[in-house]
Amino acid sequence: MIDAIVIAARVRSLAPETPEGADAVAIADGRIVAVGPRSEILPLAGPGTALVTHPTATIIPGLVDAHSHPVFSLGIVRGLSLTDVHTYDELVAALERGRAEQAGDEWFLAWGLDPTAFEGRPLGNAVLQEVLGDERPAYITMFDAHSGIASAAALARAGIDAPVTHPDGSGAVGDQDGKLTGHLIEFPTMEILERALPELGFSDRVAQLRGLLADMAAVGITAAHVMDLQDADALDLLAAIEASGELPVRLRISPWVTPETTDDEVAALIALQGHGGRRYRVEGVKFFIDGTVEGGTAWLASPDAEGEGLSSAWAPAEAYAERVRRFDRAGVPTATHAIGDQGIRFVAETLAALPPGGVPHRIEHIESAEDDVIALIGANGIVASMQPTHCTHHVRSDGSDDWSRRLGPERAARAWRTADVRRSGAILALGSDWPVAPFDPWEIMADAQGRRRVASAGSAPVAPDQALTALQALEGYTTHAHRAVGSDGGRLAPGAPADLVVVDRDPLDASPEDLLAARVLLTLVDGVATAGR
Ligand SMILES: [Zn+2]
Repeated sequence: MIDAIVIAARVRSLAPETPEGADAVAIADGRIVAVGPRSEILPLAGPGTALVTHPTATIIPGLVDAHSHPVFSLGIVRGLSLTDVHTYDELVAALERGRAEQAGDEWFLAWGLDPTAFEGRPLGNAVLQEVLGDERPAYITMFDAHSGIASAAALARAGIDAPVTHPDGSGAVGDQDGKLTGHLIEFPTMEILERALPELGFSDRVAQLRGLLADMAAVGITAAHVMDLQDADALDLLAAIEASGELPVRLRISPWVTPETTDDEVAALIALQGHGGRRYRVEGVKFFIDGTVEGGTAWLASPDAEGEGLSSAWAPAEAYAERVRRFDRAGVPTATHAIGDQGIRFVAETLAALPPGGVPHRIEHIESAEDDVIALIGANGIVASMQPTHCTHHVRSDGSDDWSRRLGPERAARAWRTADVRRSGAILALGSDWPVAPFDPWEIMADAQGRRRVASAGSAPVAPDQALTALQALEGYTTHAHRAVGSDGGRLAPGAPADLVVVDRDPLDASPEDLLAARVLLTLVDGVATAGR
């Protein structure tokens, strides 16, 4: 018996077998039974079949955010959002606003700051002391979540009392006089500070996470590739949500492997594969070969404008390759954060040298890559996972932003080569890297086509020849996101789980501006509404 039939103006199934003129989907027991024109689908209805009609809308497969940090973000997205701050004056004004909202003399927290807002001033905590006074412990997590700025009082509370630079570029930055600037680079140093922050309670975190996933479902996300298992209570939080209902979003969780991960921990990560609940499971592992361009920790073939960027997060990098081979032999897919041209090259060469026929491996971010490396990715079935809004939100076409300035014009011209990746034949999954960028898939698909921040009128495109087509953008959130993890899903076809979205316009026939304004009317996971109706 058919549980529900969803009818719209059209179905964009992304399945080649879908008949011409399809505008209806029949669902039973959480699965798709038939896709076709309503004249063929409606006769399948029985007395108990629910009819859901959105006459002018489009039915598409459920959207997959291929790079997200929903649990990790709970600890980052705290306090004042600075994601709309672009200038120093705006930063001061935002902090003054935040001071009113977070009154008192305890921790002041903010997140999402693009360092370009310092407009050439030294990156540091002077602005925190200026606005909040010398005594207030305050901490800003930068937009890329790979560095932070702590006030002098915060550094004191965390016991960070002298500058230090580790061989991988991480550490606590000092100025010419050897005084701490408050800029903390990369996770090991940030964690020292974060341990001093007030803890959130478990039940608060459960409620926050459930709310966040519901917000994701409301914009059409039915699944996410979670690129960390950093929070010790992450699996408990998910189990707690499933104890009283279903997760609004399916989560595929890939824990980190770092240079510090021991052989025993590697064995434990292999043993952890497949663990989870009804809609979440541990699958794959996540590496970092480098850090970020803005932080000077991207691994580059030649130094950036500050003379930085010559080291990998792994020393020697061959130790990374050895770990990847270990996981590949165990049948565990890997994903590696690689941003600088040398980092991307090293990872691509490592993956290309693996024995053929194994599990799919992916490279995350790929911010500036050379021609032969893109070709290598395409020729070897390596999966590319990219985040178009990292480009459109932070890179300016005139090169005046931090990312472009550090890399210089030649490397900046190779920004986020999404179209070249597709031309190479590679799988290209798209995502947000939430909370590094907002998770709204419509903005990401719009920017991927416009190569500019479509939400800000008049913004100029960055490397416009790298624009994706509407179909490629949608594939990045559906079929290619599934292929990125070795699945043939992301299509509306009989037998597939009924994960689908009804959206108020046709994503394959909308301008980027139109796409940005898309409104999701209904999201189904396993045939059950997670948003809308
Ligand atoms: Zn990430």
